Amino acid sequence: MDRLLLLLALVSVLGAWQWVQTSVAASTPMVHIYHGQTLLASYPLRSDKAVHYHAQGDVGGAEVVIAAGHVRIIHSTCTSKACVLSGEHEHLGDMIACVPNRILVLIEGEKSLQLDAVSQ
Ligand SMILES: [Zn+2]
Repeated sequence: MDRLLLLLALVSVLGAWQWVQTSVAASTPMVHIYHGQTLLASYPLRSDKAVHYHAQGDVGGAEVVIAAGHVRIIHSTCTSKACVLSGEHEHLGDMIACVPNRILVLIEGEKSLQLDAVSQ
């Protein structure tokens, strides 16, 4: 029984260490999901686990998926579906905008690249 507890303790320590390492490795780039001026969520672009995030927007919302170093909107309630059709993004400064939903997905590094993103 004691051995089991020790094992559990060891596993949780290793898990915490892995979590710390993941956080450090993921310090750049980050995916930021905005609704208007409000930051809804931030996730590292490169993560072992895929992220599926539902962003609530003005006309329903958009499903944002971050996986394998890419981010994309897989489904949206907007009519044009321009955000879905824009596909996968992976570069710093890339953005996916769903105008009807007022949802903006930005890939940003340590310094703000919003000006670069706007000029694209
Ligand atoms: Zn859209």
